[in-house]
Amino acid sequence: MAWDFSTEPEFQQKLDWMTGFVHDEIRPLETLDLSWPQLRAAIAPLQQEVKKQQLWAAHLDPELGGQGYGQVKLGLMHEILGSSPYGPLVFGCQAPDSGNAEILAAAGTGEQKRRWLDPLLAGEMYSAFALTEPDNAGADPTNLTTTAVRDGDGWVINGAKWFISNAATADFVIVVAVTDPDAERHRRTSQFIVPIDAPGLEVVRDIASMENPSPRENTYGSHCEVVFRDVRVGDDALLGNPGDGFLIAQKRLGPGRIHHCMRWIGQANRAFDMMCERATYRFAHGGVLGDKQTVRNWIADSAAEMQALRLMTLQAAWVIDTQGTKAARKEIAMIKYYGAKILHDVIDRAVQTHGSLGYSSDLPLDFMYRAARAARLYDGPDEVHRDTVAKLVLRDYTPPAGNVPSEHVPTRRRAAQERYAALFDEILASV
Ligand SMILES: Cc1cc2nc3c(=O)[nH]c(=O)nc-3n(C[C@H](O)[C@H](O)[C@H](O)COP(=O)(O)OP(=O)(O)OC[C@H]3O[C@@H](n4cnc5c(N)ncnc54)[C@H](O)[C@@H]3O)c2cc1C
Repeated sequence: MAWDFSTEPEFQQKLDWMTGFVHDEIRPLETLDLSWPQLRAAIAPLQQEVKKQQLWAAHLDPELGGQGYGQVKLGLMHEILGSSPYGPLVFGCQAPDSGNAEILAAAGTGEQKRRWLDPLLAGEMYSAFALTEPDNAGADPTNLTTTAVRDGDGWVINGAKWFISNAATADFVIVVAVTDPDAERHRRTSQFIVPIDAPGLEVVRDIASMENPSPRENTYGSHCEVVFRDVRVGDDALLGNPGDGFLIAQKRLGPGRIHHCMRWIGQANRAFDMMCERATYRFAHGGVLGDKQTVRNWIADSAAEMQALRLMTLQAAWVIDTQGTKAARKEIAMIKYYGAKILHDVIDRAVQTHGSLGYSSDLPLDFMYRAARAARLYDGPDEVHRDTVAKLVLRDYTPPAGNVPSEHVPTRRRAAQERYAALFDEILASV
């Protein structure tokens, strides 16, 4: 009977090491207001330590310098790393670089891998992924209008993108552009690797947002507006074949959502710990908060919801590992919106338990709360994932005969009466 919820002891040892490392070495950096160059200098020795522990870029295959871990193991790692915004960066598996590395590994030529993937994996280069456009619904990426037009032996890219994470500190951008407007809607786009300093590429601004209302120049975690004006790239910038843009994008999204959800559990756990700690000492109306039924309900509900999300996410990861990403479509869509809600609700309760301190920036809850709101939007808004779940669930259902519900009691009673008529007649006759 294969139904095992345990972690191998050797891997658990690695997870335990990671937990201590994130807590002791990475979290202190959060409290400093570091520029990108300062942050890189501060994390460089930590990254070396991670490499020494053989935990660097664990999402990739060993021949690319990774560990070839499956999604369950990666999920367990991301749960720990997600508790700090810098955790994934120190372990070489931060979005969007990890997804971009997967794209380059899957669709890149030997030369593209050498030029872009190797330095990306070495932590010498950083990247961004540019899909969303200000004038088109990002929820439906078949509507893109950024174009890449053939010109001699290269391409010319024109268009505007926005909310491009880390574009302010990236060395290159993977951009999705329309290469054949007349093709079937999933074959219209292609992906191109564009150096950030390519003539015509302008990072217009780091957009002020709930996550970062006052962005400073050259800091990690930007969400930028990026404009392409007659940006000329060679044929060697194209990933895969023309028309493969959608196909390649799909590859990175499934596993990426597992990692998001596990990171959210890490964040939710951190908020939960703060809530529980507060409950032990804050005294009001004759007792500590932990004695009040409402606070106890918050603690119990949060514990149950986080456990449910964790099991759902690890099960989705297991389906990917054992049956492939396509087989896990429903599970992945489910955890994406369910996880975003649990993340928000747990942080919200932790804020409430702390009162004005929770609302202040003296605790990380304030940033966590604002950043959590985006989880309901990026990588597809809640509504799109709910729609996918409902669509896949409904595939297993068909209209009943004559549109009479299968559970209609009078109909079932008539059928049962017919089925048992002879038996009941016999019993009646014998009494
Ligand atoms: C913090 C953050 C980081 C991001 N990073 C990146 C990045 O690095 N690269 C990148 O390309 N993009 C990035 N994005 C963009 C993100 O992927 C998009 O915001 C998202 O796909 C939604 O697209 P949109 O903003 O255009 O909203 P729209 O597509 O305009 O949707 C708006 C709303 O319409 C509703 N809606 C849409 N479709 C449906 C439907 N079928 N049924 C019911 N309701 C629907 C939903 O409520 C949705 O929230 C990021 C966004 C955020 C917030």
